[in-house]
Amino acid sequence: MSDSRPRPLDPEAKPDDRVDNALRPQKLGDLIGQDQVKENLGILIAAARGRSEALDHVLFYGPPGLGKTTLAHVVANEMGVNIKVTSGPAIERAGDLAAILTNLRAGDVLFVDEIHRLGRAIEEVLYPAMEDFALDIVIGKGPSARSIRLKLPRFTVVGATTRLALVTAPLRARFGAVYRLDYYDLTAMQAVVARAAKLLKVEVDKAGIAEIGRRARGTPRVALRLLRRVRDYAQVRADGKITSAIAKEALDLLAVDPLGLDDVDRRVLKTIIEKYNGGPVGLNTIAASISEEQDTIMDVVEPYLLQLGFLDRTSQGRIATRSAYEHLGLTYTEQGQARLL
Ligand code: ADP
Repeated sequence: MSDSRPRPLDPEAKPDDRVDNALRPQKLGDLIGQDQVKENLGILIAAARGRSEALDHVLFYGPPGLGKTTLAHVVANEMGVNIKVTSGPAIERAGDLAAILTNLRAGDVLFVDEIHRLGRAIEEVLYPAMEDFALDIVIGKGPSARSIRLKLPRFTVVGATTRLALVTAPLRARFGAVYRLDYYDLTAMQAVVARAAKLLKVEVDKAGIAEIGRRARGTPRVALRLLRRVRDYAQVRADGKITSAIAKEALDLLAVDPLGLDDVDRRVLKTIIEKYNGGPVGLNTIAASISEEQDTIMDVVEPYLLQLGFLDRTSQGRIATRSAYEHLGLTYTEQGQARLL
């Protein structure tokens, strides 16, 4: 578990993480896009502040890299409170959670990333903590064991997950506000690239920004990564300035295509089309065919392909659509679909 604000100079952080942390917007007003989430969150925060209360528990869900962690920090900044950061898999024992909870101060934000990966026993401890701000501790063993209830300060859980469906119903019910983050539109993506370029002092023209924004699959984290790689390319192969031509060359070399698909995305589509006649085929079969983690495909690849309309999800498995064939320059056949009828 790490303490409080993002640490730009965290010695453990990889260089790219450090840059990402330094670039994180700090206030609601600095956040680009996600207008509906920002507006609702703004009201939630203003109301809680107006009543001098701790904020209700908030859950953010959506694909990785869209700003869930950033929003958790923004919530704490806007509320003027401390944030403790942890994650579902990091809390192994109920005792770990008890230690975290008893160290919280009134109003603090406890950010739990990947909250769908909390163990059952841990969730049982979290329920009364979130609902009644109480911690039930069992003292002793066997017949003489007894339970005592510790009072906790009023605090706020900010949860984040890429898989809302895996968050158990009782846990979900304890969040007063649930916000879904969507892929950013082109205008927002360009604003993300332009903001990062300015902060990183990268020279890039409008067309260069547009090219990177277009290929960043609607995801700020991807935009930041592509910007850094294109900057490297411009520095080594040109005069350091990013133009549309330089961005195109660099991104082609990285095998990021004009719609933002990378090698893994294309392999997923090609497997469905070439090995399984366009589908339907199960996700585990696809994952095994291309030796990728099923989780990566579910969290990162599939949502973007669905959004582009390249993939359909049916009860029998995934199907590649006509647009997917066309994008890959393959001839569309109805075979896959025919099997469904
Ligand atoms: P998640 O927690 O959903 O995986 P993060 O919050 O870590 O995503 O966001 C990834 C990066 O993208 C952050 O480093 C941040 O700098 C940037 N970012 C995310 N959302 C925005 C936004 N709305 N405006 C500008 N930058 C953003």
